[in-house]
Amino acid sequence: EAKAAKVDRPIVFDQVLRDKAQKRLYIENELRDVISRDELTLFYQPIVDLESGDFRGVEALIRWFHPESGMIPPDEFISIAEEMDLIIPVGNFVLNEACRQLNRWRKTLGPLAPANLHVNVSRKQLEHPTLVTVVKNVLRKYEIPPECLHLEVTESIIMHDREISVSTLNELKKLGVNIDVDDFGTGYSSLSCLCDFPIDVLKLDREFVKKSDRDREVMLIEALIILAEKLGLEVIAEGIENAEQLALLQALGCRLGQGYFFSKPLIAADLEQAILKEDWPSPSMAGV
Ligand code: C2E
Ligand code: MG
Ligand code: MG
Ligand code: MG
Repeated sequence: EAKAAKVDRPIVFDQVLRDKAQKRLYIENELRDVISRDELTLFYQPIVDLESGDFRGVEALIRWFHPESGMIPPDEFISIAEEMDLIIPVGNFVLNEACRQLNRWRKTLGPLAPANLHVNVSRKQLEHPTLVTVVKNVLRKYEIPPECLHLEVTESIIMHDREISVSTLNELKKLGVNIDVDDFGTGYSSLSCLCDFPIDVLKLDREFVKKSDRDREVMLIEALIILAEKLGLEVIAEGIENAEQLALLQALGCRLGQGYFFSKPLIAADLEQAILKEDWPSPSMAGV
């Protein structure tokens, strides 16, 4: 028996590796013509005013619906798309589709349409020479006021090539769009990036929100909110899952947030229904 166990181990390990490599190869192959096969969709997660409960905007989040494998989440294919340089067409699809949808909402929902549309941008997209033109054209095509659009980049993305980042972000600012730092606090050079780049919004990573039952984290969140205020930045807390987390963020003066407590990311039609019915928990449910 002991002998069998010894032999077993490397086989299992090998199998795991092979499965991983196979999965990657599979995703690579399937990704190649994912756009022409029309399998990519955007979901939209509401961003809410934590005091009033007002609906403030949406974050567009990509989903890949594969005919055999079902839903493949972005964490499983975005980095592969990036390595294969497919992130440029995928990223352009996302920008176009999100703006097309916002254009529709502005027509059908009028003043209830999302005031802010947040779109995630990857490193290769930010460093690609066409980004500013792509953004400019898509805003014009769908008649979207530039101040409605937020491009979300992480600290590590903007720190990768500071020079390109500074000049591209400045160009984007000239168009009038907003720059959000996504997953703020998980990167390594948080504070200097706040001075060196033209940033409008800090998105507090959900790890902070999750750990917010610990004293030191609470003080850190509070300090970050004060810092953001002093720098004239808005703060959006990510990953608010329960009333306790919401109550704490409210008490700390965080104005905006998103998370499963309010709503999971939804398909466009469901978001529309939720907006019309104001179908999410009111912040007063947090008991503050
Ligand atoms: P992100 O931009 O930080 O997006 C937030 C993620 O947190 C989303 O995961 C969202 O579904 C999830 N989330 C929201 N509320 C909660 C909550 O209360 N609890 C928990 N546990 N999770 C919550 P998702 O959609 O799987 O996306 C993962 C990441 O993939 C995104 O993180 C973003 O970095 C990337 N991504 C998504 N869509 C795109 C895209 O269109 N382009 C690029 N380049 N990256 C994308
Ligand atoms: Mg994001
Ligand atoms: Mg994030
Ligand atoms: Mg994230």
